[in-house]
Amino acid sequence: RANVDAQKPVYVKVALSPTSIENAKLNMQTELPGWDFEGTIAQADQAWEKALAKVDMESSDAKAKKIFYTALYHSMIAPTIYSDVDGKYYGPDKQVHQADGWVNYSTFSLWDTFRAAHPLFTYTEPERVGDMVQSFIAFYEQNGRLPVWNFWGSETDMMIGYHAVPVIVDAYLKGIGDFDAEKALEACVATANIDEYRGIGSYKTKGYIPYNVADKYNSENWSLSRTLEYAFNDWSIYTLGKKLGKPESEIAVYKERAMNYRNIYNPERKLMVGKSDKGVFNPNFKGTDWSRDFCEGNSWHWSFCVFHDPQGLMNLMGGQDEFNVMMDSVFVIPSKMGMDSRGMIHEMREMQVMNMGQYAHGNQPIQHMVYLYNYSAQPWKAQYWVREIMNKLYNAAPDAYCGDEDNGQTSAWYVFSALGFYTVCPGTDQYVLGTPLFKSVKLHLENGKTVTIDAANNSCENRYIKSMKLNGKNHTNNYLTHDQLMKGARILYQMDAVPNKSRGINKADAPYSFSAE
Ligand code: CA
Repeated sequence: RANVDAQKPVYVKVALSPTSIENAKLNMQTELPGWDFEGTIAQADQAWEKALAKVDMESSDAKAKKIFYTALYHSMIAPTIYSDVDGKYYGPDKQVHQADGWVNYSTFSLWDTFRAAHPLFTYTEPERVGDMVQSFIAFYEQNGRLPVWNFWGSETDMMIGYHAVPVIVDAYLKGIGDFDAEKALEACVATANIDEYRGIGSYKTKGYIPYNVADKYNSENWSLSRTLEYAFNDWSIYTLGKKLGKPESEIAVYKERAMNYRNIYNPERKLMVGKSDKGVFNPNFKGTDWSRDFCEGNSWHWSFCVFHDPQGLMNLMGGQDEFNVMMDSVFVIPSKMGMDSRGMIHEMREMQVMNMGQYAHGNQPIQHMVYLYNYSAQPWKAQYWVREIMNKLYNAAPDAYCGDEDNGQTSAWYVFSALGFYTVCPGTDQYVLGTPLFKSVKLHLENGKTVTIDAANNSCENRYIKSMKLNGKNHTNNYLTHDQLMKGARILYQMDAVPNKSRGINKADAPYSFSAE
């Protein structure tokens, strides 16, 4: 204490290690050997500047720009590195492991981030994507299954699904990451077949998870949500198997499982409804009820969660017109209904405050929904609502989000949506169109190419796509492909204040659906 000068600042350094005190010291000596406080701040600034400069834009709308770059920043915070500078890390088996030539990651909030945050990394941080998948595979080897929601190297089993699967498949199909694809498929298949885990056994035998049968993980139930998410994940396994040239006899079971979403569709209600072990729909069902059958939502949020097969869902609902009526209804049904059922979770309150009917953007299950108008010949409605959501539900303030940010997902939604497209179905090469937010954006890709997105007459009123050109050619598809973007692309929009109801309405313009293959 005697040596401390009251007039001078005291500098303190802290280092962490998941494995040992010695390695914490090693991490500090390697990453921050000196005492240059200002220099360290400058380095951090430079690192963030480099990361955020991957998207460059011109906009007179300072507020929208601030929201965009804040969202881009948020999208890059998780997952987190969870290994020492020498590659040592702590595994779910409580042993110290050595990562050789890759970096171990943790804090995978996969139920949220499989949707858009991970697909966004395939642009903004492709150099990290391979290590993330490598981390999944190591986790599988040490824990017998892929991570669900891992944190500091341990499995928390928060939320549902096996969404490491679509993240792996999306990366592999985009040609990103140097990982063993055969091993990855083995990990996906093993994870999807643990019969005692959260209803997978009955899902396999019945084709759905009954709402009335408890298993050891069933305290939260969420049977219907799990059925829908498993079906999408199984489509991902089928897709990877096909890409790896596996014989149909080996992977046909996942093709079949991918259609399991049909088993809980109730044609009388035109919605997804919980089904009992006897095959009877839940008699107490109400569309707006946040019941035990649904994970943090109700049937109006979950009935559209068929990412891999919107056309199949449309067929179930009675065709395109009926489907559009159901979609429109989401915004029309008052948000107050169903609020008195079984207590209040914060997501319900958020939906009420947002005041957009049953549209609950504050939670993840519905975040892709408005993009589905691109599959049902009404792309202008996607354009209208995407802009509406960007304008109303994001802000440049400390309370700027309409719900949990959730480790990058709600931010990645904004980043993609502001660029003008979104990943409805990770594991396809398609980005489904919305409406660009800015007049001019440049996306600097890791391969040195550039995507330029220009929409000179863009404004709040001019939110509709009148016409669109890709590299000088008229573009009527309601999607762009990964390949089109990665080659470098010039996208030119003519915007309008009235919808162009003749653009993007042919079946050939619709994005991918499994049933339409
Ligand atoms: Ca959430």
